[in-house]
Amino acid sequence: MSIKKENISCPTCGKKGTWTTENAFRPFCSDRCKLIDLGEWADEQHRIPGDPVNPHETDESDEK
Ligand SMILES: [Zn+2]
Repeated sequence: MSIKKENISCPTCGKKGTWTTENAFRPFCSDRCKLIDLGEWADEQHRIPGDPVNPHETDESDEK
């Protein structure tokens, strides 16, 4: 029971959740979101879904 868990937001849909290191789709919430990010990231997918920006969601690994 030493599975590491992380609280992250899915880059595709912005869905927040806790995923274990066993999640093959990290940092995405699902295979669908992963595929979307890889191949269908265009046109209407490109617009930001009006997700509220929470300070807690700030990606520290990203440049400001
Ligand atoms: Zn997602």
